[in-house]
Amino acid sequence: MNTPSIYDSPVFKMACDQYDHIAEWLGIGQAERERTRLPKRALIVQIPVRMDDGTVQTFQGYRVQHHLTFGPTKGGIRYHPDVTLGEVAALAMWMSWKCALVGLPYGGAKGGVTCNPHKMSIGENERLTRRFTQELIPIIGPQVDIPAPDMGTNEQTMAWMMDTYSTHAGHAVPSIVTGKPVSIGGSLGRKEATGRGVAYLVNRAMDVLKIEAQGATVVIQGFGNVGFHAAFALSRHGTKIIAVGDHTGAVHDPAGLHLDQLAEHVALTKGVVGFSGAKNISNEELLELQCDVLIPAAVERQVTGKNVRQLKCRILAEAANGPTTVEADKVLRDSDIFVIPDVLCNSGGVIVSYFEWVQDLQNFFWTEAEVNDRLYRILEQTFSQVLQFSKREKLYHRDAALAIGVRKVAEAKKVRGLFP
Ligand code: NAD
Repeated sequence: MNTPSIYDSPVFKMACDQYDHIAEWLGIGQAERERTRLPKRALIVQIPVRMDDGTVQTFQGYRVQHHLTFGPTKGGIRYHPDVTLGEVAALAMWMSWKCALVGLPYGGAKGGVTCNPHKMSIGENERLTRRFTQELIPIIGPQVDIPAPDMGTNEQTMAWMMDTYSTHAGHAVPSIVTGKPVSIGGSLGRKEATGRGVAYLVNRAMDVLKIEAQGATVVIQGFGNVGFHAAFALSRHGTKIIAVGDHTGAVHDPAGLHLDQLAEHVALTKGVVGFSGAKNISNEELLELQCDVLIPAAVERQVTGKNVRQLKCRILAEAANGPTTVEADKVLRDSDIFVIPDVLCNSGGVIVSYFEWVQDLQNFFWTEAEVNDRLYRILEQTFSQVLQFSKREKLYHRDAALAIGVRKVAEAKKVRGLFP
């Protein structure tokens, strides 16, 4: 298959390998196959930023729009030192399958800046974001491409993006981004949505496996937006969060971590390591702990051919995008581990982002109970659909979820013609 080398990266290759496997199973013809797989367009921009010490640093930023067949594209903005064009393209591709799987009228997109937001001041983060948004203006818009937060970005980042875009338009345009503060048109329940969705699906998987939530043990890698809200939502059902990891390392307490205190410790020290009462462990040890549920909620490629045989969980809930490599999948598909694939597991975020966009376009806002109720209805329906399809076709859960999503995109492209 002809893949432009500009996207070359292990993560893009992984997304392509997953897609090719499904396209083969679906019998998508060669011509349809290639254009369904490759991103529609990509923009690379230079972002010069005046730093607090008076120097100017130039950062590299990207936005990739995978397809615009159903409507606008949708996807997060990532600030992380490892961001590359290939990674952003892979994440955009996964967004496409995810949106199609859960039935949203979006194609996938993703953006990113190669930087370390935690080592930059608020002022530097703001100047970077405003300049990046300015560069994106030609290709974003409420009917074209709607950004949202991802790793290293948050509600404040979205507020700066919305403000920069609105200044350009000459009037407030809340629907240009989702995941923004409620005070400027954000949706109630959006901040918590991805983690809440993860917790909902973990509970459904526990039902299927007949694991009692009360006392079930959970390990989480990543204590940012997704990991944090998933931990709190799960603990409300009586599960015990026995270990949590982040970019500083990991902490373990078999009796269960006190989440409020851990959150205070992280707010103070900027990392989980050194949390009193818990044992410091490495990220490698974290992933191999005995537990009922393992939730990678940080970066890609954490469950690999090297460590997959050491996993001791019964459920692998992929809150992060792309946490499992293709080599690891070969082992998992024949194992007893119940995998909730990323395109399903973390879809709560984009589902409530869609609700936010709809509310902004109508200027008609919903209660948090309405948001959650609609979110859980979509998750329930999609979870059942993936399980039934997987059972009927004897497919691994990831293959079933991807097949449903990819098929919808390929069919829409076919009936529209060559343009989209
Ligand atoms: P975040 O920036 O809020 O938190 C990221 C967490 O991961 C932090 O605790 C950070 O310390 C940790 N981390 C970073 N690098 C790490 C490493 N190398 N090893 C271990 N831990 C590391 O980001 P987030 O929004 O919570 O996103 C986490 C994952 O969930 C990403 O894969 C993202 O694409 C995915 N996701 C997020 C959303 C959303 O709504 N925010 C929606 C869908 C999917």
